[in-house]
Amino acid sequence: MPARPRRHELPGDPVVPPAPSAIDLHTHTARSDGILEPSELVTQAVEAGVRLLAITDHDTLAGVREVVAERTVPAGLELVPGIELNAVVRDRPELRESEVHILGLGLDLDDETLEATLARQRDGRRIRFDRMVRRLAELGLPIDDALEALPSTGEDDALGRPRVARAMIAKGYVTSIEDAFLRYLSRGRPGYVPREGLGPVEAIRAIRAAGGIASLAHFSEAPQQGAVITELQDAGLAGIEVYYRTFDAPTVAVMEAFAAGRGLIATGGSDYHGDSEPYAATHAALWVPPTVERPLRAAMAESAASP
Ligand SMILES: [Zn+2]
Ligand SMILES: [Zn+2]
Repeated sequence: MPARPRRHELPGDPVVPPAPSAIDLHTHTARSDGILEPSELVTQAVEAGVRLLAITDHDTLAGVREVVAERTVPAGLELVPGIELNAVVRDRPELRESEVHILGLGLDLDDETLEATLARQRDGRRIRFDRMVRRLAELGLPIDDALEALPSTGEDDALGRPRVARAMIAKGYVTSIEDAFLRYLSRGRPGYVPREGLGPVEAIRAIRAAGGIASLAHFSEAPQQGAVITELQDAGLAGIEVYYRTFDAPTVAVMEAFAAGRGLIATGGSDYHGDSEPYAATHAALWVPPTVERPLRAAMAESAASP
């Protein structure tokens, strides 16, 4: 599997974990665009030393539901039901790809309104995917046959640009996923199609209404985007991802201070997808300090009590 584009890697000194992180609040499984089965992820996480794990697949709780229903969560691991919503920011063209990613943590798995919202998000994903395929065909780069030949995950949630890119590689149009994004699929490139779906305020409200807390994922631009953050906090944003695996040490320090100054709780996680390495290899570079746990639990308890 080729590595996905590393969008959030920064040039400063890397974070050196002083101990194996017991907390990881941002991971993906094969129920969205990750590689591991949910049961494999929880097993690998506990083996790496994680005690508090959130599965945060894009637009679906299927993976969380599965390991809960099948009772495959290993002893010693506490699972936080989570989600990641890619929210479209329509009126702020300065934001990267006009979107922000919102994590929902501590969700009620039986909340029907949230499930209906997630179903609409998945529909939007399919519409965008079909438009991208049509756009590439118009550019003289048909990929239908290559898409059919790709292994099917059976899930709409995997319908994203990485899948388009894998088909483009198979057709010989590009050399890697990164090449596909750089030349065709990123905003401003000829194959780009804007995302359909929730805005960030709607995403935060949907998470809160389902008893969860909303945390803004991998947004190192936060200190320069004060107006955006204020708008999101007004909608109920409770946290921000300070301890993101690929943030360098200076960025983590800036994000810690920013979160404290804004009264946002700090969350952290690996954003593990599994494209190129087992969970343990990714986890080795992750540092989420134990101080994250208490404020997180307090916020989740408060939100569950009064969504
Ligand atoms: Zn994300
Ligand atoms: Zn993610």
